[in-house]
Amino acid sequence: MIMNEPLAFAGLRGTLARGASLARHTSWRAGGPADVLYAPADRDDLAGFLRQLPTSEAVTVIGLGSNVLVRDGGVRGVVVLMHDPGAALAVADGLVYAEAGLATPKLARFAAMHDCADAEFLAGIPGTVGGALAMNAGCYGGETWDYVVRVETLSRDGRFDVRERSAYSIGYRSVRNADGSPPTEIFTAAWFRFPQGDAVAARMRIRSLLAGRIATQPLALPNAGSVFRNPPGDHAARLIEACGLKGHAIGAARVSEKHANFIVNPERRARAADIEALIVHVRETVRAATGVDLEPEVRIIGEAGERR
Ligand SMILES: Cc1cc2nc3c(=O)[nH]c(=O)nc-3n(C[C@H](O)[C@H](O)[C@H](O)COP(=O)(O)OP(=O)(O)OC[C@H]3O[C@@H](n4cnc5c(N)ncnc54)[C@H](O)[C@@H]3O)c2cc1C
Repeated sequence: MIMNEPLAFAGLRGTLARGASLARHTSWRAGGPADVLYAPADRDDLAGFLRQLPTSEAVTVIGLGSNVLVRDGGVRGVVVLMHDPGAALAVADGLVYAEAGLATPKLARFAAMHDCADAEFLAGIPGTVGGALAMNAGCYGGETWDYVVRVETLSRDGRFDVRERSAYSIGYRSVRNADGSPPTEIFTAAWFRFPQGDAVAARMRIRSLLAGRIATQPLALPNAGSVFRNPPGDHAARLIEACGLKGHAIGAARVSEKHANFIVNPERRARAADIEALIVHVRETVRAATGVDLEPEVRIIGEAGERR
């Protein structure tokens, strides 16, 4: 296990740490540590790291941690932090190129500035481009993969590849390989094609979209966005509210009063176990009352127990 071995890597330019808390790398501000945490300097550095890492070691990637719950026992093996404030962003041949570590709101503003339409929805999604690709993140009728032309991927053994959109099967918050298997590669970059628009109109749309979010979502408190996927033809928030669950708390985790499909960690002292127990409670209550089985949208990773 990597936890007990000397960390000997040649030529790395990123930051390597043992037992680092992941709570500060997730928007819920909860959860345990990573055995080993690696923040690569860039794509090539990450490839070099993976080439030297024994293939027996598990690798988990986190972007901005805005859709993950890390259990209190933490994550075994290596966690790679993809968020990179210096990630590349460019326009070439009518396509917008963005590295995976870029925050999606930056992509939205950049696209608007370059007279693109339809990228505005990304301004309201507080993750990375890589996270948006992995989740097929979307809102207000737009979904990430509607605009993807191709992606660059990195395999577990450190090889880059470029894959066309047709290599994937895309659904609501779901991304699979075309053969139905789950993708195992890391997304390192993507090329997007947005329709021609108008910079002023796009900027105004971003502003009104963000105002709408501030009015309806508990953005001042740690949260991970919508906890459950919307069931076909309905809204998870409506069902949760109808069951009287707004404000329901377990430990320091609470169903938001502002938006029933959000769970908040108001005092930043919720354990991941509190949040997970609340997810289970909401799911069971809604199932018993309505017959609808809400499926979590957030991804739960790591081991239960205490290892802060
Ligand atoms: C206030 C708020 C509002 C939100 N609103 C929306 C919304 O409107 N629509 C929506 O869809 N989501 C929404 N979300 C959820 C979240 O922001 C999105 O799912 C986002 O795309 C996750 O990006 P991330 O970088 O934070 O990914 P993370 O949470 O870090 O990771 C999510 C998953 O993606 C994987 N992943 C991350 N990066 C990569 C990569 N480079 N390669 C391969 N896999 C990767 C991770 O392993 C994990 O399984 C919201 C969240 C918050 C906190």
